[in-house]
Parts: sequence; structure tokens; C-alpha cells
Amino acid sequence: MAEHESLEFGKADFVLLDNVSMEEFMANLKLRFEKGKIYTYIGEVVVSVNPYRAMNIYGRDTVEQYKGRELYERPPHLFAIADAAYKAMKRRNKDTCIVISGESGAGKTEASKYIMQYIAAITNPNQRAEVERVKNMLLKSNCVLEAFGNAKTNRNDNSSRFGKYMDINFDFKGDPIGGHISNYLLEKVQCCMFCLVHQLLRGAPDSLLRSLHIQKDPTVYNYIKVGGQIKSCINDGADFKAVADAMKVIGFTGDEIQTAYKILATILHLGNMTFGVDGDVTLIETPKLVSVIRELLSTKEENVEKALLYRTVATGRDVIEKQHTEQEASYGRDALAKAMYERLFCWIVGRINDIIEVKNYDNNRLGCDTIFHRYKTRPQIFYLHIKYFTSVAIFAVLSFCINYCNEKLQQLFIQLVLKQEQEEYQREGIPWKHIDYFNNQIIVDLVEQQHKGIISVLDEACMNVGKVTDEVFLQGLNGKLAKHAHYTSRKLSPTDKSLEFDRDFRIRHYAGDVVYSVVGFIDKNKDTLFQDFKRLLYNSANPVLKGMWPEGKLSITEVTKRPLTAATLFKNSMISLVENLASKEPYYVRCIKPNDVKSPLLFEQERCRHQVEYLGLLENVRVRRAGFAYRQTYPRFLQRYKMISEFTWPNHDLPSDKDAVKRLLQGCGFDHDVAYGKTKVFIRTPRTLFSLEEQRAEM
Ligand code: ATP
Ligand code: MG
Repeated sequence: MAEHESLEFGKADFVLLDNVSMEEFMANLKLRFEKGKIYTYIGEVVVSVNPYRAMNIYGRDTVEQYKGRELYERPPHLFAIADAAYKAMKRRNKDTCIVISGESGAGKTEASKYIMQYIAAITNPNQRAEVERVKNMLLKSNCVLEAFGNAKTNRNDNSSRFGKYMDINFDFKGDPIGGHISNYLLEKVQCCMFCLVHQLLRGAPDSLLRSLHIQKDPTVYNYIKVGGQIKSCINDGADFKAVADAMKVIGFTGDEIQTAYKILATILHLGNMTFGVDGDVTLIETPKLVSVIRELLSTKEENVEKALLYRTVATGRDVIEKQHTEQEASYGRDALAKAMYERLFCWIVGRINDIIEVKNYDNNRLGCDTIFHRYKTRPQIFYLHIKYFTSVAIFAVLSFCINYCNEKLQQLFIQLVLKQEQEEYQREGIPWKHIDYFNNQIIVDLVEQQHKGIISVLDEACMNVGKVTDEVFLQGLNGKLAKHAHYTSRKLSPTDKSLEFDRDFRIRHYAGDVVYSVVGFIDKNKDTLFQDFKRLLYNSANPVLKGMWPEGKLSITEVTKRPLTAATLFKNSMISLVENLASKEPYYVRCIKPNDVKSPLLFEQERCRHQVEYLGLLENVRVRRAGFAYRQTYPRFLQRYKMISEFTWPNHDLPSDKDAVKRLLQGCGFDHDVAYGKTKVFIRTPRTLFSLEEQRAEM
């Protein structure tokens, strides 16, 4: 139990609840939120509730309080977890990771920033210039990624549209020397809502806007007006400069930064491009935009026009040019805009990695011992933030991916929590007893199994020649999965009220049922950017742009290999993510969003309960309590409780602290509820701990 916090704030650790029930859990969570205590532990997991107001708990003085301390010594805080992960890495040379999860707006990005800030504050005491440089780069790269990858949504003014994980590499002294960022699932849907687009319109100097042929007024641009609403981000204007500066500091060249702006401008112009028909000829109604785009992309005007209106297809040995219908042309235009944005984002991540990655030193050739030591073992801290369950069916494909991802992570979570417990017991020489838990492998298989999982069925449907429709995909699912306990669809369960439409299917996730609509699955799964566009961009005279599109080099007859589908790419990245996580020692931050109106006062009971449920928090408390609710090293235990026993107060004369703790607990009659490990005492039930606390208070 965390010290320095009285019980009026509720229990600082959920394992100390009298009973593990949803009611007690919620009551404690609510009480703490209302008292301004936004963090609570479940053992070594931090549960965080978004306060929606500035909290004065991240300053230098707080950093000092947590630095080098043990988890239980201070009130629950992100810093304590960050410190624990850092210490494990430094002392035990373990790769650690901090997994931050929760739904949109729950506070993941903020949490990761505070953790980074903490690590930056406690490392490099000697102010080594190179380490300072690396730290600065890591912080700056965050700012750039947010500008390109965040957007304002209804649920969050600064919503990350990509999942991110970031490795930080440390040297043997424990100072950061480099990092690596991976991203996945950038949402292409509303690329123009991304913050940087707005920052550009509001904050860019007039001369830049002129050269991009961009007007300041956002209402001019169709892509920004999506849904008739103009969405901006917090602070757009001011941030433009900050982002431009950050890019420079990280090491982007002037040409690279200019190219990024040109791509954003091209996307805005593309959104305003319209097509018409004259007889059986498709036309561009906005020829002026073609020449603007030509200029921005440094290519030829007729090439732009051709790529927008025609598609090259290979039929056997012949190559023919096929004209788009008006509808196909619009579709192609939107696909181009989305693909350019996505590629730009990936390229930025790649460039940042080039710069911050620790280069592979050839140790032998250098023959230098220090370098060898320094780079031979490169412990890492690894952050991941990930969105949690969504049951919104609008972007069915996206929520499907997110939910699948969560399914995998949940599986890993329970396994690792158990494993961690088991390992600690082994280290301490305490016998381990088996704990039952719900294994969601069956649901993971439903999605990813070869030949009969949902992703395989989807890929198979996409591979069909001829017209493939979402319905074909659904038929495939119904055929293969009719008997699966966690799958059903309208066709299979016609009387089920939750399946409203013919195209609905439902998965019983571990966190609850989610209904998906098959509409859009096929489209999203195929790589739908025509080769003609890739070639257009590859043939640009701008080397930066050209470099982003290497596959444009291929002519249509050379494009033989079918690209992997989106779902398969995602599945593969999930599998390697989970492998990566499983090899590290995990620390968890579970974020909860208290209400939908961004209020610092409102704790919406139902909403929070739902999140507690799908984050599996009660299960977590149970696993933690099935063994020992509380553990502490002998000296620290004595420090706290020695005043309650005559044998230990003010000092003991026993051979070791362990003996002293034994004597103390025997004296209180708690010996039966306790196990004595090599370095720590383990207390099984919270009640024992409470009695100790009470006795201490009475002294
Ligand atoms: P998304 O999945 O949409 O990216 P997220 O979980 O990353 O959401 P954040 O952007 O971290 O959510 O948080 C949303 C908002 O909540 C922040 O912009 C901030 O206003 C507020 N907030 C979150 N955490 C804190 C905190 N610890 N202190 C103060 N405000 C916070
Ligand atoms: Mg975020």
C-alpha cells in the first residue's frame, strides 16, 4: 500500500479492497477521482482516470520524490511505474516496456509524454552533450509525429490517429542513446483533419502559402469541410512554427520540409478537383488545379491528367489504357490523396528513425572496449499506446482491427501478469499455485487462424477474379464460421435483435459483443492505389518525393506480385508486436475516460464501469490477490512497522531484518498469513495489512 496517503482518499491499491466486486471497485475509483487522486494501483499496474484539468503533480519536485524509490513508498503515480521500468532495465538489465491503453480521449498520449519527461529528467546526471542531444531529439520527434498524426475528433481534440510504439535504447550507464519509432494503423479516412493541415493554413507565412497556391480560408477546401464541419486542432497557428523548428532540429533538410508542405497542399487541391463527362469521355472540370498540382509535384502536366483519367491495364501481353468513369476518377483521386498522406507519414517516421537509431557499430573493428560494452547490450524501454475497444460500427474495418489488436494484447496481459507473479515467487523461493483465468485464444484464432480465420476469408474473397463484393465475403464467413461459438451473423441468427442489417456480423470479444458491418471491408483490404499514380509520383523531378515511391519504378507488366492485403499486413505487424512485447518485462498504464464532455467534475458511473470491464481490471485484481496481495522488502517493511513491536522498536538485535520481520509478525499473530521470501515478505490478505496499519496509527 502506498504510504503518505490517508484512507480518506480511498484505497491506493485495488488489491486492498475488502471484497473484489464491481461495486467496491467502482466506489473506490469514484471516490479517488472526486478527491483528485487520478492514479490507483493494482499491484504494479497503474489505473489512471483522465482529470480533464491541469494537475500540479508533474513538476521537478514530484520527480525528485519518485526518483529511485520503490513503487509502494509514494502515492500511486505514473512516475513510479516509469521509475520501476527504468530500474528493472538498469539493475537487472531487462528490456522493459510500458503499455498504455484506453479508449480515445482517456489520456494515453498525455501519459506517455509525462513518462518520457520523467525519464528525460532522471537520466544523464552528468549532462553529457550527446545524451542531451538524443533526449532532445526524442522529445522533438514526438511533437512532429503529433502534428502529422493527430487530428481533432468529436471524442478528443488532439486524437492520435496512429498507434505508436517507441523504443528507447540506453547505454550501460542508463542514459538514452537512441530510439526507434514504429507506427501502425494511420487512419486514412479523414486525412485533411490532421493537425498539421490546419497549422499550415493558420500559421504558415504568406509567402509559403502563395508558393503552395493555398488560401488561408479553410472553407475553400472540400476535404476539410467533410461533413459540413470544419475541424481544427488546439493551437494550430502557434504550433506551425514549433513543428517546423522541431523538424529542423531533428535534422530534416529544407527540401524535405518543403516537400512535406507541397504534399499537404497537393492533397488539399486534389480535394477540390471535380470530374465531368462529355459523351463517353471523362473530363477534368478543374484544369487549373492540374497545373498547380503539376508544379507542386514537379512532374508533367499531361502526366497528372493522364493518371487521373486513365488506368493502364495489362491483358495478357497487351498493355492498354482504359479510361475511368467519372466515379472511378473520383475514387482514384481520393485514394491518391489518402495514399500520399499515409506515405508522407510513414516516410517521416522512417526519417526520424534514421536519425535517432543507434547505429550498428562494428565493435571488433573498432577494437574499443567501451564502445563494445556500450552497444553490446542495449536494454530498452519500450512504450506502446494503443486504443481500446471500440464498438462504434461506422468505421467497421478500423474498429475491427483495433479490437483484434486488443484481443491479442489482453491475452498477453493476463499471461504476463501471471508469469511475472510466478517469476517473482521463484526468485523469492516461494511455492507457486496454479491460477485459473479466461484464455481468449479461441477469439484470437477466430480472427487470425490460417484458412478459416476472418482475415483468411477476407483475403480469399479479395483474391477472386471478377466482381468481389462485401456480400461474397460475408457468405465466406458464414460458410466457414457457422459453428464458431464467438461468431454469428444476421443470416445465422435471423431472430437476433442486435443484428439489424443483412450485412451485419457479430463477434463475441472477451470484452463483450461487437457488431460489425461488412460494408467497406473488401475495399479497405485491397491495395487500391493504381500503379499509374505510383508511377506519376516516382517520375517526379523532386528527389524527395521520388524517393517516397520506389515501387513506381515498375511498369504495369512488371507488377506481378500481388501486394499483401491491409488485413494481412496488420495481422503480421500484430504478431510481431506481441512477440516483441512477450520478450520484455511489461508495466501497464490503464487509462479511463470519466465522461464524454471533457469535464473535470463528472464521473459517469456506467461509462466507467464499462471500461473497467473491458480492460479486465477486476480479473487483474483477482489474479494479483490469488497469490499475495502485498509484498515488501524486509528493511522497508521494518521501517514502516517497527514501532508496533517491542522487539523491533527502536532497533532490533536479531541477526537479520528478515528475522526481525518474522518476530514482529509472529508477535501480532499474523504468521499464518505470510510467506517469507529471500528479500521480501509476502502478505496474503489485505486484512492483515489493514490491521498493521491500524496498529501503526494507534501508536
Ligand atoms: P486518442 O486515442 O484519441 O489519441 P488519448 O488517450 O491519447 O486519445 P489524450 O490525447 O492523451 O488521449 O488526452 C485527451 C485530453 O485529456 C488531453 O488533451 C488533455 O486535455 C486531457 N488529459 C489527459 N490526461 C491528462 C492529465 N494527466 N492531466 C491533465 N489533462 C489530461
Ligand atoms: Mg493519443
